[in-house]
Amino acid sequence: MASAKGGLTTRLCAVNARKEKRADLHLHTCHSDGTFSPREVVQKAIGLQLSAISVTYHDTVEGLKEAFSASGEGLEVIPGVELTAVFKEREIHILGYGFRPQDTDLTAFLKRMQQYRKARIQAMIDRLKMHKVHVTLEEVSAAAGEGSLGRPHLAQVLVEKGFVRSLDEAFQRYLGDKAPCFVKGATLTVPEAVRLIGKAGGVAVLAHPKWAVFDEWIPELVSAGIQGIEVYHSDHSPGIAEKYRRIASTHNLLITGGSDCHGLRKTKGPLMGTVTIPYELVERLKAATLTAG
Ligand code: AMP
Ligand code: FE
Ligand code: FE
Ligand code: ZN
Repeated sequence: MASAKGGLTTRLCAVNARKEKRADLHLHTCHSDGTFSPREVVQKAIGLQLSAISVTYHDTVEGLKEAFSASGEGLEVIPGVELTAVFKEREIHILGYGFRPQDTDLTAFLKRMQQYRKARIQAMIDRLKMHKVHVTLEEVSAAAGEGSLGRPHLAQVLVEKGFVRSLDEAFQRYLGDKAPCFVKGATLTVPEAVRLIGKAGGVAVLAHPKWAVFDEWIPELVSAGIQGIEVYHSDHSPGIAEKYRRIASTHNLLITGGSDCHGLRKTKGPLMGTVTIPYELVERLKAATLTAG
């Protein structure tokens, strides 16, 4: 009987959970280094009964239109982008939300970034040659399709050509930030990123701080104009999320969160909906965009 009662409780919780509006604000599609199309992402989000999502491509807003046009059935799609920026000689990611995707400065910058990303992958290919690993830009471009060219595409080719057994191994041996064939992907500073996003009417949020940011750097990032922090992320344990929630409260930062789902191009597999935030936080984010730009 205890299990039947437990089952009923679980079902009631599931019903209640469905009623609460939730959002996943960090998703990739085939327009960056994810594998699903924007349409598929939108369909999956509707299936998961999410109320809002944001697709956050690496250094591009190409393909946002497709996500907007596929939205419906109560699903809100918030404009998003994930910019690569340099801070203390490290690469960090800055999420932009709620901006005008047609902003001329933003689109001109992102166009230049696409060229830069291509040149950078070529530079990594040249370094790989010194390690007797031979791939071509054409092969990597074919893996990327219409996506914003990046290391995950190069890693995929290394796996396909048998140079490594897994994406993880590709990053560990060759492509990771401290690995021998890594080439920096950005020259953009944090104030520049904040200005680009802000001028387009959006807000700038520090992505997955656990990846590249020491806690003591956060006040300086706030001074540089960062308005929010991604507290909830699939690489943040509950304890880590709680730490960032306190940091957000100390610095009066907006709180965001999302799964950082890359479809099938991550070892942990498709993650959409595994990390979600209450819709109330989306409302605060949207209110902040109204005062930006
Ligand atoms: P890029 O934009 O070319 O610098 O590539 C960054 C992307 O590579 C991240 O968003 C992740 O999707 C992926 N990535 C970074 N580090 C790793 C890693 N160690 N293992 C697997 N994927 C990674
Ligand atoms: Fe990525
Ligand atoms: Fe990221
Ligand atoms: Zn991401």
